[in-house]
Amino acid sequence: MEQAKKKQLVVIGGGPAGLAAALAARKNGVQDLLILERDEQLGGILNQCIHNGFGLHTFHEELTGPEYAARYIEQIEHEKIDYLLNTMVIDLDDKKNITFINQNGVQRIQAQAVILAMGCRERPRGALNIPGYRPAGIYCAGTAQKLVNIDGLMPGKNVVILGSGDIGLIMARRMRLEGANVHAVVEIMPYSGGLKRNIVQCLDDFDIPLKLSHTITNIEGKERVKKVTIAKVDKDRHPISGTEETIECDTLLLSCGLIPENELSEKACIQIHDITHGPIVDESLETNVEGIFACGNVLHVHDLVDFVSREAEHAGIKAAQYVLNTLPKKETEIEIETKGVVRYCVPAKIDPKRMDDLQVIRFRVGKVLKDGAIYVWADDRCIFHRQKKILTPGEMEQVILKKKDVEYAKTIRIESEEM
Ligand SMILES: Cc1cc2nc3c(=O)[nH]c(=O)nc-3n(C[C@H](O)[C@H](O)[C@H](O)COP(=O)(O)OP(=O)(O)OC[C@H]3O[C@@H](n4cnc5c(N)ncnc54)[C@H](O)[C@@H]3O)c2cc1C
Repeated sequence: MEQAKKKQLVVIGGGPAGLAAALAARKNGVQDLLILERDEQLGGILNQCIHNGFGLHTFHEELTGPEYAARYIEQIEHEKIDYLLNTMVIDLDDKKNITFINQNGVQRIQAQAVILAMGCRERPRGALNIPGYRPAGIYCAGTAQKLVNIDGLMPGKNVVILGSGDIGLIMARRMRLEGANVHAVVEIMPYSGGLKRNIVQCLDDFDIPLKLSHTITNIEGKERVKKVTIAKVDKDRHPISGTEETIECDTLLLSCGLIPENELSEKACIQIHDITHGPIVDESLETNVEGIFACGNVLHVHDLVDFVSREAEHAGIKAAQYVLNTLPKKETEIEIETKGVVRYCVPAKIDPKRMDDLQVIRFRVGKVLKDGAIYVWADDRCIFHRQKKILTPGEMEQVILKKKDVEYAKTIRIESEEM
């Protein structure tokens, strides 16, 4: 193996998070910068998302995934930022030694700073515990999306979808547009995990039934899926006997959650958040390992790519400050407490002395709240209050903290409850 090369900043992952982070770092003074991407092109998951709905916040127009990615790739080319494709990072340690493999063999880089932007992957069937055989015809929804949109192959003709996250909803419409019968989207929770706009545009507009509080209790078929049994569930999510119905189908798509790609983060001794399964970061999106930053879906699963890009810009700016020695050292970090239905927030801690004048905190709630309210407390002072007609787990929320409100606080708490 060659001797390790030195780099000021390495970005792992060339999806929307990696691209926006790299651009922000370059614009903030980092010259010696490299993106490592395992795929054969930049753009990440956006390349297979040929539907529109991307970029409304960033570009104020509706773009497809590849169009949104292209806007960033053009800027990467324009800024002459180096990247390596077909290059898989296989190891990272807490000294920022990066090991990667490509057609030139195994190579190493010693980076001054690293931005993690590896995205997330789908939860597979093995993690779901559905009884039955292991026939052909069961796909993760994102895999099916790649088959249809990139490879031009139809996974099947009679489809049931388990899970109503955004990928499941989008694939329900995609399969219908390609001529398949989509019999139902089955969701164990009493609410959908996807965006409201996707429920309307992907299910309601195509008369595809959404079966809330239902699950699949059996899959039949030896060679290929032949039918599935679905049943209603009680409040503890256990199937209710006597409510079973069978649906004949040849394909079952699973859209049951996404998990950050955190193997490299774990190898680098980065603390992982119990709920997001991504790294725990502070206001600079820096992990517990100094000089390693994280953004995008590797950090927590986002609903809109616009928020990924904005978060990644913040990581890029902070990584640039770190490299150029202008990021103040950590002083006193405060863990942000979450209460009520707030499940988690990112960042999970802030150093009031080191934060910018305005700090975005993103979070999700754990259940649907009608007529809800969001509060932020600094010690016993309410520093933010907003009412919202509806809060749902499928949509990410955000609040903006002002430095002047939290600079001398000992505790910060975000909570949300019904009014
Ligand atoms: C089906 C679907 C529909 C969507 N619809 C919308 C929509 O309508 N509107 C919207 O705004 N958003 C939508 N999104 C969300 C949006 O696509 C994501 O939020 C965004 O792509 C996340 O960006 P990312 O860079 O964090 O991750 P990714 O796009 O997943 O990029 C991560 C990159 O890292 C690379 N990588 C991972 N590990 C390594 C490694 N070890 N070495 C080298 N490279 C590595 C991967 O190959 C990948 O290119 C959708 C997502 C999906 C899946």
